[in-house]
Parts: sequence; C-alpha cells; structure tokens
Amino acid sequence: MTTANTTTSGERFYFDHAATSPMRESAIEAWVRHARDLNPGGQYGSGRAAQGVLDDAREEIASLVGAEPTEVIFTASGTEADNIALQGLFASSQAAGGQGRNRVVVSSVEHPAIKEPARLLESRGAALEVVPVDETGHVTDLSALDEPAGVAALMVANNETGAIQPAREFAARAAKAGTPVHLDAVQATGRIPVDFHELGATTLAASAHKFGGPRGIGFLLARRSPAPTPILVGGGQERGIRPGTADVASAAAMAAALKEAVGEMAGERKRVAALRDRLKVGILERIDDVVVNTAEPAMPGHLSVSFPGAEGDSLIMLLDTLGVEAATGSACGNGVNRASDVLLAMGVEERTARGTVRFTLGPRSTDQGVDFLIDRLPEVVSRARAAGMA
Ligand code: PLP
Repeated sequence: MTTANTTTSGERFYFDHAATSPMRESAIEAWVRHARDLNPGGQYGSGRAAQGVLDDAREEIASLVGAEPTEVIFTASGTEADNIALQGLFASSQAAGGQGRNRVVVSSVEHPAIKEPARLLESRGAALEVVPVDETGHVTDLSALDEPAGVAALMVANNETGAIQPAREFAARAAKAGTPVHLDAVQATGRIPVDFHELGATTLAASAHKFGGPRGIGFLLARRSPAPTPILVGGGQERGIRPGTADVASAAAMAAALKEAVGEMAGERKRVAALRDRLKVGILERIDDVVVNTAEPAMPGHLSVSFPGAEGDSLIMLLDTLGVEAATGSACGNGVNRASDVLLAMGVEERTARGTVRFTLGPRSTDQGVDFLIDRLPEVVSRARAAGMA
C-alpha cells in the first residue's frame, strides 16, 4: 500500500450507484430547459405549455417501460410510489370485499419502502405473511400466493445483493388467486429491461435518481383497475392517485434520463457486469475468508461481499479515507453497526453479515477505479479485522 491517503490525483471512486446515480447531462439539460415552466393545471397558454411537457414526459416514460401513458403516475420518490401502491391496493381490496382480503404478502428482503407500510397495515389489523428467500437471496416458495390476499408485493431486484426475483412468476401466481400485485422496480428500472404489461403486475414503482434523473421524483405505473385508493387527497392530479402540483422540470428530466439509460442498456449491462466480475475475482484472489452474497440472476452492477471479523462501518470509513465511496447496505441504528435484515433472511451468520460492503457499479465506474480498489482493499480489510468487532 502506498503512503498516499487517496488517489494521487485526488480522484474519488464511486461504488454506490444503488444508493443513487449521478444525474445525466441529458437530464440536467431537460431540467434547466423546463425550470421556468408554470403550473400544468393552468387553463391558459403557459399552463397548457407546461401540461404539454408533462404529457410528453408521460408518453416517453410509458413507451420505455411497456405501459400506457395514462398508467404513469408521477410521484415524489420510489418510497412514495411504494406506499401509494401497497396501502392503496390493500384499501381497494378491502373496499371490494371477498375472501382473504385482510392478508398482505411480501418477501422477506423488501426495501423499507415496502416493509414499513406492510408493518403499518399489520399494526392496523392486517395479517402479514412473509415469503422467504433461499441462501442466494431469491424467493422460491410462492405458495403463500395461492390463497387470495388484499395485496402482494415483490421487488424486481434487491437493493443490497442485486438478486433479480422471479417477478413475472410471482405476479402470475397471485393473479390466479385474484390478488393485486405491486412490483418494486426501483433498482431495476433503467438498468435491466422492465416491461409493465409483460410482467403482469397491477402497479410498479420506479425512482428517477437510480437511473440518472433528479432525486425527488419517481413514478408509479397503475392499471385502470384495480387502481390504488389514494392515500393523499387533494387537487385530483395524476388520476387522483397522487394529488399535488406536478414537478414538470423533474418529470422532463426523468424522461430524458430513462430514454438515455434504456438506449445504452445493452452495452452498459455488459460493460458494468464485466467490471463487477473483475472486482469479484480480484477480491477472492487477494483476500482470505470472503463471503460473496450476490448470486445470479443478479443486477449487473451489484457486488455484496462480507469479510468476517471486520465491522462494515470500519471498512466503509477506511475506504472513504482512500477516496472510495461504498456502503454497508445495512441500516445503522444509533451509530451501532447492525447486521442487514436482508442478509440475515438469507441465513448469513450475524458476525459475517456485520462485515459487509456493498459495491455497486454503474455509468461512473471505470477500469481505473476497479484496479485501485482491488489494490487497496486487502490492506483495508486487514486493518479493519485487526481493529476487531465492536
Ligand atoms: N425500493 C428499493 C428497492 C430501493 O432500492 C429504494 C431506494 O434505495 C427505494 C425503494 C426508495 O426509493 P427512493 O429513494 O426514491 O425513495
């Protein structure tokens, strides 16, 4: 290891694309171009112009994700889209009545944006059922879907391990029992093909900042029927499913980012996966006692690895001082490094799970960054292991 604290150029290497991706130039340009647009609800020239921009963004997005324009509901985030879908579809099912409508079925590795509203529904009297995952992080036993439920939800790809779930099979099995299905495609959209109608879901959530759009905007795809009952009420915008004045500039930027992401997807998928695989091989060759938590089918840019005996927080801090930005992928409660629920659900031992780093690659990733990381990580791991566990 050299004595320099960071790269000699002072460059920082970003390995946290699953948390957020830098905004694409095409998105920034669209955003700036429309920053002065006014309220699309205005019944005069400037209002109609803003509405036209919003309609164009809606059409563009719909065509890129296999949906009808009317099915695109702009939201303020992936979290908001997930909440509207889970709580709203459950409420619609309850209103429609029928057998089993009090059940909520979700997988054991959902993002908090699904897990927490599911728990909220449980606290209000719903019967929550959790679909387990195997040791690779994929759901396999879908039998909980054979009885009708108020709503069932699954992520298309996991944010920590990158595991790609059998979303189409999940949706088809739930549909047989008449259960509305929500898919959380926040990690997947713009990175792997996502086709709403082909997936057969009732609703689907995505978030712009994961594919190079602005932070603070996302979308929900929602079929005409059954549609989620609104959880916010107000002015009736977005089919009443998400009332509130739309952010026209961000919608235009999101559409531009998604267009670019989908356009370069085939090439980027290969490039990013090759970099990720090289990183994995480099880590396994140079460091002893490593557990790889990412198993195929997986997102091209995800690599979750555990270094038993080290604390994830120590690893992240040491990497940060070197200019490498990565995440543990787990929630931090009161400054205490907790093992990730996702890894525990996969059966990973707590001591191992606590020593996890999630490297996620994307448009910013380069050979140079991967080489630098492979070169420096062995010393980082041995220092973190020497420091021991808290
Ligand atoms: N769902 C998944 C799978 C995610 O990875 C994230 C963000 O990390 C979200 C939902 C929440 O999206 P947002 O950050 O737009 O609220």
